[in-house]
Amino acid sequence: MTLHLHDTLRGKKIAFEPLKEGEVTMYLCGPTVYNYAHIGNARPAVVFDLLARLLRRTYKLTFARNITDVDDKINQASIDTGKPIEEITARFIKAYNDDMGMLGVSLPDIEPRATQHIVEMVEIISTLIEKEFAYEADGHVLFDVTANSDYGALSKRDIREMIAGARVEVAPYKRSPHDFVLWKPSTPELPGWDSPWGRGRPGWHIECSAMAKKHLGMTVDIHAGGQDLVFPHHENEMAQSTCAHDGVPFARYWVHNGFLSLDSTKMSKSLGNVLLVHDMVKTIPGELIRLALLGAHYRQPLDWSDAALEGARNMLDRLYGAVRGIEVSAAERQSVAVPATVIAALEDDINSPKALAEMFTQARQLNKSTDEQERHALAAGLLAGGDLLGIMQIDPEDWFSDPGSSDLSNDEIDAMLIQRKDARENRDFATADKIRDQLATQGVTIEDGPSGARWRRS
Ligand code: AMP
Ligand code: ZN
Repeated sequence: MTLHLHDTLRGKKIAFEPLKEGEVTMYLCGPTVYNYAHIGNARPAVVFDLLARLLRRTYKLTFARNITDVDDKINQASIDTGKPIEEITARFIKAYNDDMGMLGVSLPDIEPRATQHIVEMVEIISTLIEKEFAYEADGHVLFDVTANSDYGALSKRDIREMIAGARVEVAPYKRSPHDFVLWKPSTPELPGWDSPWGRGRPGWHIECSAMAKKHLGMTVDIHAGGQDLVFPHHENEMAQSTCAHDGVPFARYWVHNGFLSLDSTKMSKSLGNVLLVHDMVKTIPGELIRLALLGAHYRQPLDWSDAALEGARNMLDRLYGAVRGIEVSAAERQSVAVPATVIAALEDDINSPKALAEMFTQARQLNKSTDEQERHALAAGLLAGGDLLGIMQIDPEDWFSDPGSSDLSNDEIDAMLIQRKDARENRDFATADKIRDQLATQGVTIEDGPSGARWRRS
């Protein structure tokens, strides 16, 4: 495999080499679970799912995507709705995984939750204090950015200039305006844990440092996320981890996706122009949304519009149209080689638009060919390419009759899954299997995973 990735720290595309031969670790900053994910949030989930699929062809990949389940926004959602925090986070973790599943995003190998890693966070914070990279003030613990000479390297900022130009009002307990919170005090109504600095809760950045270390080790091969996370989140993660680990690199490759806008305007809740994946998948086939997200190179900005969706629909029409009527068994599809040109494009810094163009070249060749054997081989290759890209997952006839739809609503399917869970708990496997079959006839597939069952329309 000759994978090249653009590394944000070095500012260029470089050949990828994992720390351990044959094995790769990847960490993606996941959602803060207090509401539904919007289509912008889905971009990193889909892009890095594709990277994970590509890596798994060659390496033993361990992919962690965390859940931020302690955060001021979650606390606020609990106050606003009067619902307990655990209820809110459980609901939106499930919704996130279901919605991303609809876009063909597989569950990561590990889905660590911040609230289950407080001990590890306290440990890193204590080490940082001991090594004099952090200080305690007023119930808070802060990271001292001036103690870390590399601070700013990832986001290409000069810390001295930042301090000189700081316009932010400085909290009285901070030595320098850019020092960031590792630990903060909690009031009795807010979530909190006992610590050497009193009852409190962690800052956001330390969560990822602790979860990455616990599950993937001191150095991760690939650390991924959206561009907005480069500063301050990733800069701070890198500072904490390298300082706590005496300079051992935190991530070998930093990979960031560009931002998604809506009809040329930044997608933001305050502007009211947010498209929730949860709503979109009710009427739009998931793989169409996935293809529209992969239609632009992941580092480029992506403007979401009806035209982008229409473009994706045309692409799927062309791909499904090419393979329509050619019988390729599931076994053949799995064993046949993905076209080398598609692989080469993806290995070149996940160039998904180029990979799709190569799929169309293959489709055109198929359409032109009159040799049945050749047509069959090209169709099998296209379907294998579709599996790698996470598209062309339904029968072409179904695509052309009623793409991706089922008569059941999401809520009805959820209810059937609960009935199936109850049946299984009562060891009534006949009923459980019947529910699975009923869903299957409606084009809904159940997947049993570590965090319970989830479903996807197939
Ligand atoms: P959040 O829940 O806001 O922390 O975001 C989860 C992920 O979505 C992060 O990796 C963000 O960088 C990414 N993200 C948020 N908004 C957008 C957007 N409009 N376009 C692309 N990625 C985004
Ligand atoms: Zn993170």
